[in-house]
Amino acid sequence: MKITTATFISSYADVKKCPAPDKPEFAFIGRSNVGKSSLINMLTNNRKLAKTSVKPGKTQTINHFLINEEWYLVDLPGYGYASVSKSTREGFGKMIEEYTTKRENLDCLFILIDPRVEPQKIDLSFIGWAGAQGIPIAIVFTKADKLKKNELQKNIAAFQRALLQTWEELPPMMITSSEQKAGREDILEFIDDVIEK
Ligand code: GDP
Repeated sequence: MKITTATFISSYADVKKCPAPDKPEFAFIGRSNVGKSSLINMLTNNRKLAKTSVKPGKTQTINHFLINEEWYLVDLPGYGYASVSKSTREGFGKMIEEYTTKRENLDCLFILIDPRVEPQKIDLSFIGWAGAQGIPIAIVFTKADKLKKNELQKNIAAFQRALLQTWEELPPMMITSSEQKAGREDILEFIDDVIEK
């Protein structure tokens, strides 16, 4: 897929206020600092579309971007950031939960994972929860350039083993580096395939 236009629509603090669900929608989520903004900017070839945050946990809204006048790309708040207050964190939880379970045009939720660290409880439990809800998901490993190839493979294998303790079948997985613009086509082709179906 070639991206010709990427337009910021708006930020929403309330799922009910999101744009009419009349286009295919693809959302991105992950722990703060996982590289979500960088990935969105890499995918859309726009260095400033999603704001890369200096302060983790900054995105507290659902942000819609219209791509090629055809589908929505959605930047969701980060989950599991320890230094936001408990009530705010619960707010994130509720908003994410409401959006991911109720948004009828959500075609895929891309869950971003940092492969540099061992499988994190919060990621595994979020993936488990999303799977149990029947939300269509794909896993995107970020920052691949930060690891040697064999380390990357080893860590991804460990992550897959952790997932297979609760999943019978692994979800689609993609490996990316925003720094090196790697994995861009894999994600865009995946989106294309889902839209075509
Ligand atoms: P977000 O909080 O998930 O939106 O993460 P950001 O996109 O703001 O990235 C967090 C930090 O990781 C920033 O310092 C980025 O420059 C860095 N980063 C993001 N993606 C990559 C990548 O693919 N490679 C490398 N080396 N650094 C990255």
